[in-house]
Amino acid sequence: ERGRLLFAGPVDFLKGVVAMDGLPPADRVEVCFAGRSNVGKSSLINALTGRKALARASNTPGRTQEINFFTLGDARYLVDLPGYGFAQAPVAVVAKWQALLKSYLAGRATLRRAFVLIDSRHGVKDVDEEIMGLLDSSAVTFQVVMTKADKISLKEREKVLGQVRGKLAKHPAAYPEIVLTSSEKGTGIETLRAIISGLE
Ligand code: GDP
Repeated sequence: ERGRLLFAGPVDFLKGVVAMDGLPPADRVEVCFAGRSNVGKSSLINALTGRKALARASNTPGRTQEINFFTLGDARYLVDLPGYGFAQAPVAVVAKWQALLKSYLAGRATLRRAFVLIDSRHGVKDVDEEIMGLLDSSAVTFQVVMTKADKISLKEREKVLGQVRGKLAKHPAAYPEIVLTSSEKGTGIETLRAIISGLE
């Protein structure tokens, strides 16, 4: 119920951040979303907030290397981290981004949880493990959110979940419960809202 109330309020794009001194004041509980490009991150943020085009703002070229902050009333920051896994960016850009990500994850006192999005069809890839390793070393609890659950059969899903559980066992910062979602069908969206609302 509380989850519904929080998410029933206004949701707005606040800003895109390119350097640590651009971060908004750490004055509320914050969660971030990470995932490979095309994993369904924008769709998930849009489904969570009920705002169709909200996360599109952060997906436009030029915005993709920024840490994008959304406000959920004055109760939460939802933070959209750039999609990773595309090797086309110049080395210097990638290095700058990785430095910012590292500083952000290690230094943000109000960051309560990272959601690492994993495509239900593909499972955990090497680049996902890199992010998980960074979250481990930054001591940021992370929870896996499986996306596009509507795209696979129950049998396939169980197989992929087995792979994911095996990978998570090696990561001390991993929260054991995995959330299955489909932005298309609405699966798991209320569950995720409740998790975000329940974090203190
Ligand atoms: P992002 O790059 O991680 O932000 O990914 P997008 O949200 O833009 O989604 C990438 C593609 O996957 C788009 O074509 C979406 O329509 C599709 N997609 C995202 N979520 C779902 C889902 O839950 N179910 C299905 N079937 N397709 C999805």
